Amino acid sequence: MGERIMTSVRDPQTAQSLVKLWREEFNDLPFEAVIKQDVLRQGLSFTAAALDAVDFKKKDYFIFTFDRAPLADMPDHKHVPEEIRIFTDDKVPGVAPVQPTVISVRLNPDSPYVVDRDAEGRVKLVLQGEDLANVLYPPIPEYYKASYSFDKPIGEVAPAIEWGYLIYLTVFRNCQYFGKDEECQFCDINHNWRQQKREGRPYTGVKDPAHIVEALEKIAATDSVARAFTITGGSVTGKLSGKDEVEFYLQYVRAMSDKLKQRFISKMVIQAWELDDCKKAVDAGVKIYHPNYEVWDAELFKKICPGKERFIGRENWIRRVVASAEAFGAMNVIPNFVGGVEMADGVGFTDEDQAVASTSEGLDFFMSKGIVPRFTTWCPEPFTPLGESAPPPLTYYLKLLRNYRAIHRKYQLPVPPGYGEAGVGKAVFSVSAFMDVL
Ligand code: SF4
Repeated sequence: MGERIMTSVRDPQTAQSLVKLWREEFNDLPFEAVIKQDVLRQGLSFTAAALDAVDFKKKDYFIFTFDRAPLADMPDHKHVPEEIRIFTDDKVPGVAPVQPTVISVRLNPDSPYVVDRDAEGRVKLVLQGEDLANVLYPPIPEYYKASYSFDKPIGEVAPAIEWGYLIYLTVFRNCQYFGKDEECQFCDINHNWRQQKREGRPYTGVKDPAHIVEALEKIAATDSVARAFTITGGSVTGKLSGKDEVEFYLQYVRAMSDKLKQRFISKMVIQAWELDDCKKAVDAGVKIYHPNYEVWDAELFKKICPGKERFIGRENWIRRVVASAEAFGAMNVIPNFVGGVEMADGVGFTDEDQAVASTSEGLDFFMSKGIVPRFTTWCPEPFTPLGESAPPPLTYYLKLLRNYRAIHRKYQLPVPPGYGEAGVGKAVFSVSAFMDVL
C-alpha cells in the first residue's frame, strides 16, 4: 500500500485486446463477465441517436449517482436507461458471442464504451469503434404507469432495478456520517442528494412508510417480475424522526402486511447490528441482511470507512456480521464489499495480486462460516475523497471473480438468495459479475 501510481496501465483496451486477454488468460471465465466488469469499471456514454425515440425505464438515481462525472456536466443523465442488456446475434456478432447480460449504467463521457444506433436502427455497444454487442433497454414496469395517492413520481418512491427484479427502497437518502472525516471515502450519498436537489428533482430525504406500502401493494397486484425489495439508506448514528437506527428502519417492514412480506423477498442494507437487534429485524419480517463491510483489510477499513471505524469499529463489525447468522441463518447474511476500492490511488494496494489476496482472505473468512459476501464494482464518483482515483485494472476484477467462484465452490455453498437466477445469460444483478460466474 502506498504511493500514488501512474494510471496508464489501467487505460482502456480495444475490442481485440479485450478478447485476446480473455482467450489467453481468463478463458475459465465467461466473456460476458469480462465485458461486464470492464463496462462497470470504466462507465459508458450514449450518443443522442441511441437515446432517440425509444421508451424505456430511465435511471432513477436511487441512492448513489454511480456516475464518473458531475450531473451538471452531463445533461443527458435524465434520459439514459437504468441498465443495458447486451447480446450478440447474426446481425451484430461482436468479437465473441455474448449471451444476454445486464449491466448497470454508469455515465462517463470519457469512457471508450459508447452506446450508439446504426443506420439500420440497431442500438449497439461499441468499443473504440468496434461493435461488441446489441443493446436492449429495460422495459417500463406496469406499476410506473399507475396512479397513486402521493404526488411524487413512482421512480422516486419505489424504483425498479435489476431488470425489474428488485424494488430499491432508499428510505433515508442521506447519511449521518457526514463530511470527509466520517463518510465512507467512496460514497456519494450525501453528494448525490445535493446534486439531485440542484437538478430540481423531488428527492425525498425520508420516505413515508405509507407510500412504500401503497407502492408495494400496487407492484404486488400488477407486476410479476419484481421478486424482492431492499430497504436501505444512510446510517443513523443519533436519532432520525425521533427514532434510533433500528427503530427507524424496522418501521418500514412493520408497516407491511404479512401478505406483502410473503410476496417479496425482504432485504435490508444497514449497519452491523448486535444480535438482539438482528432478532428484532427477523421478527419484523426481514429475510436477508446486508451488513456491508466495504473493504476487508483492517488498516484500509480505518482509512476508507472512518465513521464506521469510530462508531462501531472494524473488529466489532466483523464479529456482529458473524453473530447475525444466528438470527437470519448464515445463507441469509450477505455482506457487501466495494470491489476495487482497496486499490484506490494513494490509499490502497498498488499491486493487484496483493489486493486480490487481501480481499480473498475476507471471502474465505466469511464463506468458511457459510456467509457468502457479494460485491459491487467500485465507481470513483466525483466529489468523493477517492473520486480522483483511476479504477483498478480489469485484470484485478477478473482475478477477483476467479477467486470468488473458487472459494464459493471450496465450501460448497448455495447461490445467495434474493438475486434471481445465477449464471451467464440469466443473472440480473447489474453492478458486478459475481452472479454471472456462479
Ligand atoms: S455508511 Fe458509508 S457507505 Fe453507507 S451511506 Fe454512510 S457514508 Fe455511505
